[in-house]
Amino acid sequence: MHSRIYFDHSATTPLDPRVLEAMEPFLGGAFGNPSSLHHEGRVAREAVETARAQVAALIGAEADEIIFTASGTEADNLALIGAVRATGNPGHVVTSSIEHAAILETCRFLAASGTKITHLPVDGDGLVGPASLLRALQSNVTIVSIMAANNVVGTLEPIEELAHLTKLHGVLFHTDAVQAAGKIPLDVNRLHVDLLSLSAHKLHGPKGVGALYVRKGVPLSPIVFGGGQERGLRSATENVAGIVGFGAAAAIAKAELAEEATRLAGFRDQILREAIRRFPNFCLFGHPTQRLPGHLSLGFRGQEREVGKLLAALDAAGVAVSAGSACSAHHASEPSQVALAMGYDAERARGLIRISLGRFTTRAEVDAFIEILTRAVSAVSQSHETTAHEASAQMELAHA
Ligand code: PLP
Repeated sequence: MHSRIYFDHSATTPLDPRVLEAMEPFLGGAFGNPSSLHHEGRVAREAVETARAQVAALIGAEADEIIFTASGTEADNLALIGAVRATGNPGHVVTSSIEHAAILETCRFLAASGTKITHLPVDGDGLVGPASLLRALQSNVTIVSIMAANNVVGTLEPIEELAHLTKLHGVLFHTDAVQAAGKIPLDVNRLHVDLLSLSAHKLHGPKGVGALYVRKGVPLSPIVFGGGQERGLRSATENVAGIVGFGAAAAIAKAELAEEATRLAGFRDQILREAIRRFPNFCLFGHPTQRLPGHLSLGFRGQEREVGKLLAALDAAGVAVSAGSACSAHHASEPSQVALAMGYDAERARGLIRISLGRFTTRAEVDAFIEILTRAVSAVSQSHETTAHEASAQMELAHA
């Protein structure tokens, strides 16, 4: 029985054992409510405040600028809805056409109550251009929200430049840094951002805990009401174990970021080189260099409709990667909205496969993955009409 190769870290990451160790006391004996004044409460409060400082340190913020939430999605909702509501009028949100659903659906919700939404286009590499932002800033804008790194194609947006332009117009700037945090250096002051969203489970922390960085003085209304925790911006008894895990994950990410990014970029480039060498119909989605260190989005021209089969064959051979959008082994996948926005036609946009590496990825896994991918691509291309099961059986034969 081979162990599995998990190359889907953009979806979620395994918990770092050191994070689990930090969380354990707060899943057991240290169960106090941080709002309680007695000893048990104070122990929990101290742990939450330590984590707040650790998360702040990852992005160069002050501890009291971090608001813990239940997810990256909630942080995105709080940033946009909170900023619009704080103005008391419907306002105008400027965002990109390749944001995560947590932003796009929040914009749709705001639009239903009269907020104007502008979606900036991206180029063929997935980059938002400063010229289109400048044009949008000519009208009255409440907030600009552009992601730091795209979750589907891995492209890094020029946040420093875009935020700088936005600030020159006196407009708030938010970035969804859920995919970028812990992978590339982020400093809220160097980037000039006012609001920044994070999620613990993308950096080897627990699921169900996120954070919003809120620069001092930025007006924001809450979207959850109750006991007034988190400076009144996010009422609810804190998820202490989750927050402690987030803090530990942030501290580890900060300490190991440089080494990890170099290692993962090396693995990524090895896969890229081999893919170019082995597959004449290979294509890369996203910016060739301005991209997340462990992230690769690729496609095989002419085999776009076989993506479901290819992923199922890889899964059967022990490899977890994902498609750019929902797909199954039996039907052609939907085109990736991100690839469409980048100008790919529907056929090419159907064929996107996302490979994302993580902290525990090894060279042996990368080497094995390249061989398994090669067999899977050739098995699927030989058998347009076969099922995924048959394709994986053919792979076994090819391997034997
Ligand atoms: N933003 C981006 C760019 C993401 O990739 C994700 C998750 O995939 C989210 C937001 C949502 O984060 P969470 O899963 O913590 O709600």
